[in-house]
Amino acid sequence: AVRLARLPTPFRANPGQYLTRRASSTVQNHKKDTPIAHHHRSPTHHHQHVTYSETDDAVPWLAKQPLHRLSLADLVKHGRPPLNAEALLSSARFTLSLLPIRLAHRIQALRNLPYIVVSNPNIRKIYNNYQHSLSTLLPWQGRTISNLEDEIRFTEVLAELVQTHTDTIPILARGFLECRKYISPAEVTRFLDQHLRARIGTRLVAEQHIALHYSSSPHFSPSSSPTPCPENPGYIGVIDTALRPASTVDSCGSFVADICELNYGVRPEWIINGNPETTFAFVPMHLEYIITELLKNAFRATVENGMNKSPVVITIAPEPASFVTTPVTLSPPSVSLGVFDKDHIQPLDDNAPGVTIRIRDRGGGISADVLPHIWSYSFTTFSENGEDDDDGDQMPGTWSDDALSVISAASSGGSSIAGLGYGLPLSRAYAEYFGGGIAVQSLHGWGTDVYLRLKGVGRME
Ligand code: ADP
Ligand code: MG
Repeated sequence: AVRLARLPTPFRANPGQYLTRRASSTVQNHKKDTPIAHHHRSPTHHHQHVTYSETDDAVPWLAKQPLHRLSLADLVKHGRPPLNAEALLSSARFTLSLLPIRLAHRIQALRNLPYIVVSNPNIRKIYNNYQHSLSTLLPWQGRTISNLEDEIRFTEVLAELVQTHTDTIPILARGFLECRKYISPAEVTRFLDQHLRARIGTRLVAEQHIALHYSSSPHFSPSSSPTPCPENPGYIGVIDTALRPASTVDSCGSFVADICELNYGVRPEWIINGNPETTFAFVPMHLEYIITELLKNAFRATVENGMNKSPVVITIAPEPASFVTTPVTLSPPSVSLGVFDKDHIQPLDDNAPGVTIRIRDRGGGISADVLPHIWSYSFTTFSENGEDDDDGDQMPGTWSDDALSVISAASSGGSSIAGLGYGLPLSRAYAEYFGGGIAVQSLHGWGTDVYLRLKGVGRME
């Protein structure tokens, strides 16, 4: 039987001892000599517990600034061809106006975690990454990006920022797993839901400018380039205006089948029916993430249920304009996001055509005791040795040390079929970002249907 691990009563830090001391106080100051660093260097800089870096000083103020409600119009307005220098500069200025505030909000949220959690080396690494990224942007504030040389250097900063935060997920997963004595799964899910959704938006803003940069000025490319921009004329920055989900399913399918072959020695099959020719405007990176995670789940269930001969069936149905008037809430609704509701992107066009993709497997479905937990971060029924160890105290994988080995594989660039427990909740975050959703229907003993509804990002004319 599978159940959530029993957790000790969450650790309550003695407020007098911990909570009044800011999480950042013992975090290393790794800022180099930015101009700002010289001006505000604190005389108590070397005192053990009062090491406020210069970035720290900017955080409370920046975190009080409202988050700009990102709209698709924002993302595409700079990107329509022909993309001239002025449009590129204005995109850079727009990006700069958003990012420091967004990063500061995340830093503030990390500081609001119990002190002992932020002291965990993995969580602190993420915290330091944010501090570092903010410190690379602060010197740009208060000046105008007014020529292409500035723009190139700014794009390099963005590229480094995107790179710095690439491995966030396995690191956070490990950190929260190590802190499971001090923070409840519900608190972790609440934090991660906000944090990872905000991260989607922040990366999108940064990657959009990087992609626009490449599509506009091939000879002004920054030296480091994590995000190659497709030469496809159907793209506006990172948005593909004619994305074909069937192609994404095929390419992600072969990738996930490879992982299955490594893990289980079998390659599950899949077929696509419905309207495979459907295209819509969407962010390919987001679709690839979601499809990969959903296929991993379907393939794993198929193999573990011994149904290798039953292909996973992916049905693609174009949705007429305006099909999604309210987010899909068949599954338990997402946690209330409060202020971060604003972080969901505003459609260009509420009537944007979308697509529904149903992924149907014969993997035996999801049992009633598992179903309530599938949207929790870190919940998994996966265990490395494939056996449910029924020794009482821990359910396989979930919040257990089993997951740590999976995470090690993930952070060292390897790919595992399951085990992080982030696939469903994070896929849902991606789907909801543009107003879509994910619903899971399980027929226990038979198989699972997952409905992925995606709202297109809008007509681009
Ligand atoms: P992970 O795959 O790392 O375990 P997910 O969030 O992707 O994390 O899924 C959580 C759990 O939901 C899985 O461990 C599994 O028990 C269940 N699950 C998800 N999809 C399916 C499916 N298609 N068939 C059976 N069980 C599933
Ligand atoms: Mg999964």
